[in-house]
Amino acid sequence: MPQLAADLTSITHIPLAQIPASGIRAFAQKIENVPDLIKLTLGEPDLNTPEHVKQAAAQSILDNDSHYSAQKGTLRLRKAISNYLKRKQNLSYDPESEIIATVGATEAIAATMLALFQPGDQIIVPTPSYALYFPLIEYTKAELIAINTADTNFVLTPQVLEKTLTKYPKAKAILLNYPTNPTGRECPASVLGQLAPIIRQHQLYVISDEIYSELTYDFAHISIAQYLPERTLVINGLSKSHAMTGYRIGYVTGPAALISLVAKMHAFLVTAPSNPAQAAAAEALENGDQDPVEASIIYQKRRDYIVAALNKMGLKTHKSEGAFYVFAQIPASYGQNDEAFALDLAHEAKVGGTPGSAFGAGGEGYIRFSYAAGDEDLHTAMKRIQKFLAEKGDI
Ligand code: PLP
Repeated sequence: MPQLAADLTSITHIPLAQIPASGIRAFAQKIENVPDLIKLTLGEPDLNTPEHVKQAAAQSILDNDSHYSAQKGTLRLRKAISNYLKRKQNLSYDPESEIIATVGATEAIAATMLALFQPGDQIIVPTPSYALYFPLIEYTKAELIAINTADTNFVLTPQVLEKTLTKYPKAKAILLNYPTNPTGRECPASVLGQLAPIIRQHQLYVISDEIYSELTYDFAHISIAQYLPERTLVINGLSKSHAMTGYRIGYVTGPAALISLVAKMHAFLVTAPSNPAQAAAAEALENGDQDPVEASIIYQKRRDYIVAALNKMGLKTHKSEGAFYVFAQIPASYGQNDEAFALDLAHEAKVGGTPGSAFGAGGEGYIRFSYAAGDEDLHTAMKRIQKFLAEKGDI
């Protein structure tokens, strides 16, 4: 058998070394071999995909639904997305020209950024935020304008946005993610209503990643597209709402002129998602409104438990109103060194959390725990953290 080149990067045309690495993945690798670790690091539901959704995927296979689907996704799925957004958010999107089904929200985010961002464009991102945004902005050679939201309870305020735009009047777009990964914070309608006129006045495009829109606990999610339909691209998907991370279905909706640009990038990057996954997603959107309601009841109970447990041991958290994350302040003895705390917690207490600094400015001094984990794991994890802190003299 011919020998492979030892260093494969030396024979590829892709400048792999130039693709920025994810801080989260790098940290996960550091703790992956810790034995008996309870992983509260994972950003995916531990629940099963609903039965009726699985059946739809199976039926698609049995029906020989095996040919290439339309590039932008099957018309059935695009209609289901359109009806869902009308029903839930009173948003109107034409399935023919204003919706693309993508391979997860990840592809929707990538295709949107690669299509819209040019070198030198200034992109505003409230941080801490989902870490995927950073390497994509870097890859497009756009400039990241990070707004640190730590001092405003991890929600972007109109005052801070105004100030930022005074300094960066030529900014092209703002990227919002409510409910937010990693903080679980949701943006109330009253704040969205104040942000909207500022965004409109400065003619920013809005990329709104709403992947956790169905998992809210204290008030219903409202899309910023309700205020700014003419300039917002909404990104969403089925991964979190219907526990379908492995099916890989997301979507992007927005004004036809912007969607046609994103569609070109989408066609360049991938063909449509697989037919069984699209059939399952259509079923979830057509008949599965109750599924995330039931999941939210489970997550909310866990949220209440983990927030109370962490606060009792002195690890302060801001209110987690959505998604399945809690962002806790690390003990004072660690200063701002969240990675050292997360490493000690993994090695000594056998509990995995993600260091806040992996999510950008404002995340330093925090740790993210995911409560998309079973009750028993959560209880054991909280006991372990308590014991660890007590032994260290931190409580
Ligand atoms: N956006 C945010 C904020 C996320 O947290 C995630 C996954 O963790 C995604 C997008 C990616 O979702 P998908 O599985 O649909 O690609």
